[in-house]
Amino acid sequence: MKRARLVIGNWKMNLAPSATDRFLAGFRGELASLPAGVGVGLAPAFPALERVARDLSGSPVLLGAQDVHGEKDGAYTGEVSASMLQDLGVVFCLVGHSERRRYRRETEKDFSKKMERLVEAGISPVYCVGETLEEREAGQTGEVLARQLTAFDGALAPPPGLVLAYEPVWAIGTGRAATPQMAADAHRALRSGLASRWGDVTARGLRILYGGSVTAVNSSSLFAEEEIDGGLVGGASLDPKGLAAIVRAAG
Ligand code: PEP
Repeated sequence: MKRARLVIGNWKMNLAPSATDRFLAGFRGELASLPAGVGVGLAPAFPALERVARDLSGSPVLLGAQDVHGEKDGAYTGEVSASMLQDLGVVFCLVGHSERRRYRRETEKDFSKKMERLVEAGISPVYCVGETLEEREAGQTGEVLARQLTAFDGALAPPPGLVLAYEPVWAIGTGRAATPQMAADAHRALRSGLASRWGDVTARGLRILYGGSVTAVNSSSLFAEEEIDGGLVGGASLDPKGLAAIVRAAG
């Protein structure tokens, strides 16, 4: 089954609104040369969301958020709800990023709630999974990925617009990407986990991105794998030319 490719830039806690303006000035010039069949998404930090929404409105670039709160609204100081994101024009949101798992101790239960709120707001979840180096070396990758998929327990169908991102923790921000073979193997394991939940046909229609030290240099060999439907890109997405090169490699 042919799945439309997608490249998402996750800016993390980088690019303040003024730096975002500089990025956008550079990225606008790249838009015309990007392959039409590849979706492009940007996930800035909350303070820059409106800037990106305004600047890229009318362009095909998808606006994303890096996180959302698991409750609808109320007394949760410092948090941001799904309906607030929707109001800003956000169409996708990361959930389950390893940095949230690690620093915020968020669990599959938290991720299920976040995804429920996103679905209510019509926002597509980009659910991130991946094993640590210790887990890989202990031969536990399959088991870890299966456990992370329990965030979908009880869901009779995938959340609308769901995208998965396989991001081995040891590859994130380390400059040491997974080999295309390793990534493709993990994607196959994930797809079979999705198939046992929702059936083969549904699983074959879901996109699985690879994330972890994707660059303009290694993206072509990663994207040459049929199982890899695009990339979730951290560090390299902060440079408009670098991000554009990765999008072109996915085309
Ligand atoms: C990420 O954190 O989503 C990521 C993939 O980061 P990097 O590309 O910098 O490894």
